[in-house]
This record gives sequence, C-alpha cells and structure tokens, in this order.
Amino acid sequence: MEIQMFEFLKHVFRFNRRVYLDHNATTPVSNRVRRKIDQALKYHYGNPSSFYGIGRKSAELMEQARGQVAGAIHADPPEIFFTGCATESNNAVLKSISAHFYPKKKKIISTPIEHPSILNTLAYLETQGIVVEYCPVDSNGQVLLAELEKRVDDETFLVCCMLANNETGVIQDIAAVTRIAKQHGALVLTDCVQALGKISIDVHEWGVDYASFSAHKLYGPKGIGALYVKEGSPFTPYLHGGHQESGMRAGTESLHNIVGFGAACQDVDKLLAHAEQTRALKQKLIQRLKEIKPDCIINSSEAKCLPNTVSITFPNVENSGLMGMLDYRGIAVSAGSACGTGEDVPSHVLKAMGLSDQAARETIRVSLGWSTSARDIRYTTKVIQEHIEGQTLLVNMLTPAQLNETILFDEHTYILDVRPSDDRKRYKGLPNSHEVDPLFVEKYLKQIPRDKQILVYCPGGGLSVMISYYLKTKGFKNVTNLRGGLDGWRKRRSDLYEKYAGQNNTVLQPDKE
Ligand code: PLP
Repeated sequence: MEIQMFEFLKHVFRFNRRVYLDHNATTPVSNRVRRKIDQALKYHYGNPSSFYGIGRKSAELMEQARGQVAGAIHADPPEIFFTGCATESNNAVLKSISAHFYPKKKKIISTPIEHPSILNTLAYLETQGIVVEYCPVDSNGQVLLAELEKRVDDETFLVCCMLANNETGVIQDIAAVTRIAKQHGALVLTDCVQALGKISIDVHEWGVDYASFSAHKLYGPKGIGALYVKEGSPFTPYLHGGHQESGMRAGTESLHNIVGFGAACQDVDKLLAHAEQTRALKQKLIQRLKEIKPDCIINSSEAKCLPNTVSITFPNVENSGLMGMLDYRGIAVSAGSACGTGEDVPSHVLKAMGLSDQAARETIRVSLGWSTSARDIRYTTKVIQEHIEGQTLLVNMLTPAQLNETILFDEHTYILDVRPSDDRKRYKGLPNSHEVDPLFVEKYLKQIPRDKQILVYCPGGGLSVMISYYLKTKGFKNVTNLRGGLDGWRKRRSDLYEKYAGQNNTVLQPDKE
C-alpha cells in the first residue's frame, strides 16, 4: 500500500520544476521593491493628506514615487496620477473624455486588438451614444495607418491605440498615430501597460495626451496603476470625494503600492538594458520550436515586437491540451490575455489579424522575464517537443461551455469527482459523479471502467489535470479533463447546475485488496 502511495506521489511530483513564462499576465515582485513596500507599510502609515510630520513624510514618499514613474516615461511629475490599476486608468480617460466632448463630438477611433479594459468600456460608451470605429490591423498585427487616416475626421475627439499588445507583443508606431490624430484635433490615449520596462517610452516626444500603466507588469505590486495626462489636456474627475491626486482621483492613496510602483520604475533602465538578452533567449526558443515543428507560425514580425513575447501557432495541436501538459510539467504559459482565460472564446486579437478560430485555438503565448534562463527554454522546448511528437499521453480537454446534457448523461462517459471533501460540502457535484479521495486515486483503479471515457473534474481544473495524466499512465485510454473545473461549469452553465447538480452521485469505496 505504501509503495503504491509513493508511486502516486512520485508521479504527481515527478515534474516539480517550475518555469514561469507568463510575464505578460503578471510578474513576481522584485526583492528590492518588496523591501520598499515592507518599509512603507511598517514605518510610513501616515495619511499623505495629514499635515503633521508622519503624514508629510508619506506625502514626500508619494511625490518621490510620482517622480520615479514620470522619469520612466519621460513625463513631468504633475502629469502623473495614481489609480487602482490600468483598467481604472483606461476607464477614467474614456469615460471622462467622452463626457467632456459629447454631444458636440461623438466619435472615438480605436483598434480591434485593444485590451478588454478598453474594448468593454468602448462597448459601454456605445450604449451612451458614442460612435466607435475600429481601424483594422494587418496579418502582423500592425495598425493600418492609411486606414486610420481615412477614419479620423473632425467628429473624432479621441484616438485610442495601444503601444504594445499583450497577446502578440506587437508594437505600434504611436508617434505616427498621434500625428494623424492631431491633423483633426483629436486627442490620443495609448495603453502602455505591456511596454513599460520592455521598450523605451517617451510620452512627450510622441505627443500623446493620455497613457496608462500598471505596476504589476514590471515587478511591482498588483492593485496600483498610473495615468499620464498631458498638461493642458482635458480631464474631469471620475471619482468624487476628497481632494487627493490634485482633485483628479478621490480616495486615500495606497502609499505602500505607490512606493512599490516608484521603486519598480527605478529599475526600468536596468530592465531595458537586459532586453536584448531576453530577445536572444526568445530567438533561441523560436529557432528550436521551428526545428521541432517546421510549420509552426510566429504571429508577429520580430522587428516590431516586444523582446519578451512570442505568440506561436502549432497547426493541429490544440492549445488547451498543450497548456495542460505544460502546466503538468510545471511550465506556465497562456493562450491569450489573463482576463480571457477560462473562457473558450478564441482570441479577439488573433482573429483581428486574420487567424481562423481553429488557428487561434492552436496558439499559445510565451512571455519571458527577467529571470528566464537558457535552461528554462531548453526544458520548455523539450516538453513541447514530447507533447507534439506524441511521446506524452494526451488528455482530452473539455471546456465548461462544452459540458452539456449529452455528455453528462452519456452512458459511455464515467464521471470522476476528485474534489477535496471541503469543496464537496460546499457545492453539489456533476450528476452521475463517482467520488474518490483525490489523494489516494490508486485505491480505486479496479472500479473505474476502462472501456469508457473518464471525465475527471475538481474545483478549478488543476488537480484533475494531474490525476487525468496519472490515469493515462495507468492505461486508461480515453481520459478527459474538465477545464476550469466545477467552478467554471457552475458559472458558465448555471442553468444545468441548478437542474442536475448532486443527482445520482456515488461515493466509491477503495478497491478490495
Ligand atoms: N492593458 C493591457 C495591455 C494589459 O495587458 C493589462 C493587463 O493584463 C491591462 C491593460 C490591465 O491592467 P490592470 O491589471 O492593472 O488592470
């Protein structure tokens, strides 16, 4: 028995290496930044708006951080406002500027490859009477400037174009975009979230009016953003309350996060100096992937791409299976933006570049970081090669949207519930589930049928992937993992959950010896 347990754990922890290649989703906080945050939390708890000494000290640190952020993007400190995140910065500009111009002017021109914090805000503004037009991009993800020129007119009050794309790393010519906008007196917002710390940014030279930033993309803390507003450009407060941030953004400032953001920006020069090393590693990755799968497609032109990002399509290799295998082997990559994961919707960015739904589902994003090593790249390409060459045992992936009544009640499907007991107490499981103790799956193998599809699920889809692979090693031919787990399905198919959850569940007893 103990040997079996050991074998299971050995299997589960066999690949205990961790390689993080999703730095566009977020970055780890650097040690130096963490120390600065700790100090701010420990010693500088005064409210920056208070006039006495400890408050003044907090205000001084805040202004220092403002200067550090301004320095990193070539702005003046009074042009920087701290926000809760870049999503807030983007919302603030779009809503504030629309309110300023509407109904005198009604039109915003944007692109179809923006982050959801722009696209969903624009969709909301359209319900309020704003007219939004999207300028197309070419197959490399570049905004077609001639098309932009055709669209911008005297009705246009804002052109909104990101500097670097989060999914593909493609960099836009913001100076050219601004020149076109200014010919018609339109203002310019650029989302620089992915660019800061990866390429140099000069908001003054480009002449943009607004730019958004987020600390957690450059080894700073989460939950703090910044907004650049060019001196003289219109902006009305969008949060009402106290007079913080020169009356532009009410609410007591998150000093430790602001200090952390400033400290992260102090490292921008160092990060930029390291960029070519990162690009060289990325080139190695691309070269190796092309050897492994010569028909793989790189979805950007290197000349106009962030040094750390690559979007790769592997024809006939479904990305969810590949990502599941990479995760199982300790490697984190993603398929699109972190905000889009969990949804089985093909990337809007890739589709705007002309990829089919199928190709988008065969695409992964790899984003390298400061600490990525050549060894990480060797390990990752080895795992990808094994997966592509079929050396590993493929587990099928089912998305929450795909899990319908036909599958739930299919007599050839055996549903295996590997949730921990606390989750079972909280939520009813899929109908017709067979509950096993997830820590001792090897004790139930004799009862699990070998001639059926085994559908494995856990709360979030992570543990079940590992157990799915374990079952494959034990000779189960048709194993399917529920991506996003019960949580994802409950949210996506609440109708089915209400109707069937908990019906006809069986608690399996361990196999007899
Ligand atoms: N814009 C881009 C291009 C991003 O990649 C992200 C985050 O992924 C955001 C905006 C939103 O940033 P935040 O997480 O600070 O809201």
